[in-house]
Amino acid sequence: MSDYYDRLGVSRDASGDDIKKAYRKVALKHHPDRNAGSKEAEARFKEVTEAYEVLRDPEKRSRYDRYGVEGLRSRGGAPSGFDFSDALNVFMRDFGGFGGLEDLFGGRRRSSEPARGKALRITIPLTLAEVLTGVNKTVNVAVLDLCGECRGTGVRGGGRPSACPTCGGAGQERRVERSVFGQFVSVAPCARCRGEGTIVADHCRSCRGEGRTRATRKLKVRVPPGVSSENYITLRGEGNVGPRGGPRGDVVALLDVKEDPRFRRDGNDLLAEVPVTFAQAVLGTRVAVPTVEGEEQLEVPAGVQSGTIMRIRGEGLPDVNGRDRGDLLARLVVWVPDHLTPEQERLIKQLRSLEDLPPAKVSPDSRRGFWDRVKDALG
Ligand SMILES: [Zn+2]
Ligand SMILES: [Zn+2]
Repeated sequence: MSDYYDRLGVSRDASGDDIKKAYRKVALKHHPDRNAGSKEAEARFKEVTEAYEVLRDPEKRSRYDRYGVEGLRSRGGAPSGFDFSDALNVFMRDFGGFGGLEDLFGGRRRSSEPARGKALRITIPLTLAEVLTGVNKTVNVAVLDLCGECRGTGVRGGGRPSACPTCGGAGQERRVERSVFGQFVSVAPCARCRGEGTIVADHCRSCRGEGRTRATRKLKVRVPPGVSSENYITLRGEGNVGPRGGPRGDVVALLDVKEDPRFRRDGNDLLAEVPVTFAQAVLGTRVAVPTVEGEEQLEVPAGVQSGTIMRIRGEGLPDVNGRDRGDLLARLVVWVPDHLTPEQERLIKQLRSLEDLPPAKVSPDSRRGFWDRVKDALG
């Protein structure tokens, strides 16, 4: 695979256009953003990009055709100095980024363009009632905004920054080093302009050359029904501006659904404990079960055991991806009074003299945990 044509999978008479197309295809396949930091993909990405950098340039290509890699070594641009970050820059230069997480958090970029603002994280507290219906929230977010004094340029009076004299505006420094192995060229971000390619000689006083100042932005967030604390909402391009007039980054709104003491949530289902008296459990009754927004009447049959779970269909939470709604699971718990009036005590004693002993095994099995039984009820 060391032949440059083989690396791109093109024939030796491929046109410049074919080379570009072939490179894009293989580079995308091995791009680090799509291979989660795989070292092997990184190495392949570097190899194909190195080949592309030579074959796209007619002069270098003809030297390579005549003399191979040696032909390139003779005049500076030695391929051995080509590293992974050069490869990324080549890809970005010709094809741009992917808008992946790196871009989102203001990571890699083309050095000639102003950087996008870093993503901001905010937290939006929500009640269960808001989860039920969905809600529109207005939040104030502390952001970095374009400096009004210099209009984001960072230059006093709003002029344009001048090209960095050290790197001539390229934002990169190439260093040529000689060793027993030959000549190496390394490329690093320019130290003077920190890779931006421009410098500000006379700083704006208001933003100290940053091009941005603190401000508060009022943002509207539409929270759909059925969300949970695991969800987040990205507000594209609503956050910080980048330094020196770079585009706005995103705001990532993390959702924080507050616990409701009346319920336990299990996906779209809600679980509630409903106390009933012994007489109600024996004779059957109608009880009020709390729902997110009010209550529902539940018909309890006679002879219900403590711990029985009854399902009220469609009284749970909506599904975040559809129109379905979860159920409300009511767990009936027989309440035992710890204080009796003399009249109650007399009647209970009378009942004791008449009642049957419980069977050896009571259903539902009271020795098993509540959540096991919930699972049984669901299964
Ligand atoms: Zn520079
Ligand atoms: Zn300013």
